Amino acid sequence: MFDTIIVGGGAAGLSTAIMLKKSRPELKVAIIEQLDRVGKKISTTGNGRCNITNKSIKSENYYSKDLNKAIKILEDFSLNETKDFFSSIGVEICFEKSKAFPRSFQASSVVDALRFSAQNLKIHLFTSTKVLNIKSKNSIFNIITENSDFPADMLNTKTVVIATGGLAGGNKLGSNGDGYKFLKNFGHNILPQSPVIVQVKTENNITRSLKGIKVDAAVKIIQNAKITASDFGEVLFCDYGLSGPPILQLSRYCKQNSVITLDMLHEIELTDLVNLISKRRNIFKGFPLTEFFAGLLHKRIGQAVLKQCNIALSDLCETLTDTDCQNIAKTIKDFKFKVTGNTGFANAQATSGGADLKDFNKNLMSKHSDGLFAVGEVLDVDGDCGGYNLQWAWSSANTVANSIISFLG
Ligand SMILES: Cc1cc2nc3c(=O)[nH]c(=O)nc-3n(C[C@H](O)[C@H](O)[C@H](O)COP(=O)(O)OP(=O)(O)OC[C@H]3O[C@@H](n4cnc5c(N)ncnc54)[C@H](O)[C@@H]3O)c2cc1C
Repeated sequence: MFDTIIVGGGAAGLSTAIMLKKSRPELKVAIIEQLDRVGKKISTTGNGRCNITNKSIKSENYYSKDLNKAIKILEDFSLNETKDFFSSIGVEICFEKSKAFPRSFQASSVVDALRFSAQNLKIHLFTSTKVLNIKSKNSIFNIITENSDFPADMLNTKTVVIATGGLAGGNKLGSNGDGYKFLKNFGHNILPQSPVIVQVKTENNITRSLKGIKVDAAVKIIQNAKITASDFGEVLFCDYGLSGPPILQLSRYCKQNSVITLDMLHEIELTDLVNLISKRRNIFKGFPLTEFFAGLLHKRIGQAVLKQCNIALSDLCETLTDTDCQNIAKTIKDFKFKVTGNTGFANAQATSGGADLKDFNKNLMSKHSDGLFAVGEVLDVDGDCGGYNLQWAWSSANTVANSIISFLG
């Protein structure tokens, strides 16, 4: 009989097990992971560098139907506690602006440290073992797995933690939504899920022609003629639409028929830009308009702007009228892309929605079944890009580890 079985060996599951065993080494704790290794998703985070947390953890960086409950959990285990926890397992943290990374800048080293700690603490790890169902009888949970070699009562436990993550990252990272099914069977409400921190699909004739080109831009999302969100950074043009940090960050605000606008010369006021464009007619006199943007904008972006303004690229620079100059300046500062969707869960970094926090007490124990807990992305909490989602994994793990200790007495 186990004291605790954790279903899912990702960021939240591994850290729950480690925090639990550090406080109560005598407990018998197991992690069951369907993939051949634990922590596979962690290895892919932060472009292989693992943006482990953020200097500034605020409520405005998180999204949940029950934000107050989530924020309390984040406040209880925030930046300093996260640094201490990682230092205790050998990972020192450093910062790039407000983003925190392991000093090694290697996500794989975070997985190694978690794995080594789990091994030292004698946490039982069952990999390549998919959990199919969880049953409970007389305050004991029985975990049913695909592995038919296990005796029926081998995976009996007093407490169980659902740490199966959400849908972001897709099947290859083990994100298939099984946790929602398990919790639903215990009477939990599961809120609709959508991919966030994801590339945005747009009407793509322009973006396809600019595929692979990056531009620093002030980005706005427009919905029903109102600005609903904005950010600044490097935007990447793709065959399907737009990507890059500000697009990923703003993707949660993109609905069908939203419009993304890029200001590609944000540091120059519109009137100044009109003057600048007008002046360039003389500078590039005698040359075709294909050369007009040399030294100001990426050549191909400039050509796309001209096409958008219905100006022939073969015309000479000096033939631009004052109205053309105004249209060019306006288009550069308000380059519009109609949103048609996103590239889906397989390409997303987080899941919005999931298991409703209202069905859990403030210590993340189920209100439907004593001894049942959930941590991490399976819950209806997600954060902005910048280390906020992993921070939720560490913080919710701390709450659940403490909660299990009080439950077991
Ligand atoms: C490409 C990418 C980059 C990211 N980069 C960052 C970043 O830099 N910073 C940041 O803060 N966040 C980042 N995130 C988000 C962050 O990784 C997740 O929010 C976090 O890992 C969620 O942790 P989790 O433990 O809840 O779920 P997961 O890490 O998804 O772990 C769940 C585990 O449960 C297992 N499992 C599921 N079902 C079963 C079952 N039936 N039986 C057994 N095992 C099961 C899965 O195989 C998986 O290993 C990124 C996400 C992606 C996809």
